[in-house]
Amino acid sequence: MLPNRPDYPLRLTIDAAALADNWRALDRLSGNASAAAAVKADGYGLGARRVVPLLWEAGCRTFYVAHWAEAAELLDLVPPESIVVLHGPLTAADAAFAKLTKVRPVINSLAQAQRWQATGSGLCDLMVDTGINRLGLAMSDLGNPLIAALDIDTLHSHLASGDEVSPLNEVQRGRWIEACSHVPHRRAALANSAGIALGSDYHGDITRPGLALYGGVPCAALTQHIRQVAQPEAQLIQRRTLQAGDTVGYNATFTASVPLEVGVVSLGYADGYLRCWSNLGTMRAGGAELPVLGRVSMDMTVIDLSVAPDLAEGDWVSLDYSLPEAAASSGLSQYELLTSLGRRFQR
Ligand SMILES: *Cc1c(COP(=O)(O)O)cnc(C)c1O
Repeated sequence: MLPNRPDYPLRLTIDAAALADNWRALDRLSGNASAAAAVKADGYGLGARRVVPLLWEAGCRTFYVAHWAEAAELLDLVPPESIVVLHGPLTAADAAFAKLTKVRPVINSLAQAQRWQATGSGLCDLMVDTGINRLGLAMSDLGNPLIAALDIDTLHSHLASGDEVSPLNEVQRGRWIEACSHVPHRRAALANSAGIALGSDYHGDITRPGLALYGGVPCAALTQHIRQVAQPEAQLIQRRTLQAGDTVGYNATFTASVPLEVGVVSLGYADGYLRCWSNLGTMRAGGAELPVLGRVSMDMTVIDLSVAPDLAEGDWVSLDYSLPEAAASSGLSQYELLTSLGRRFQR
């Protein structure tokens, strides 16, 4: 008999109450529309299997993933009808999977419409490209008989610049309304997290927040409504004393000017704590602020323990990971900060 698998010295704690509150806030801010949830990329790195039941309990009834494999991961947690696959059926096997499971495909092209109809069709969503020029049916294809033959639950479009004041938002909204007037559908959707803050003209019947559910703040208007959800933590694996003149880490980018107590944290760029945090990031233990010294390496980061004399090997430290602030100081996007957190975090 093998012993139990040892735990990783990294954990990502999820504030379940904050997640539920964020969803309720976004649902409220969506006015007459209902908020759904984007849970692709493993729930933005938090763990889709962890966040989906919490969001369901808060009242969320629609979950957007990118891939069919991501939908399959959720089938034992929520009704299949509540799962929607944004990338749509890329193969006949995808279409057959949708048909069999009742997970709803988003149709993004005439080819996907044809593929869906080849399986016998059924309820689907439609994504219309109104200016982001990414995934979605061209406006010029709206009149195609393949589209007229679809049974559409939600007619979607997606904003390119919802998190900015941009004339493109109104241009896209105009095209979305035009698309809605051409194609029969039950519900309409345009807004991601930032789009919700653009006001009721952008809400339609269902909104698709992702980032803000998980504590991201894409625009100032949401600041007061959104709380931090994800807190990465890691264990201290060594304490050591530097002498004046000693350097830390690869390429010796930090030099102690005085004798210094430092600690080695079991966290590195392989865990998504990227090298941009070298000589920049901060960790915390209790109230103590513990700056990163030198380069972040693959599995280790060194921090200054001058103000934490009692911190010992095995103790946990928290990353400073308030997303808007962490994004501003690192230059990474709030999306990247969440989705790059590695597999070695116990979730
Ligand atoms: C990811 C995604 C969302 C969520 O966007 P956020 O900016 O994270 O709120 C909404 N709609 C579509 C189509 C998406 O791909």
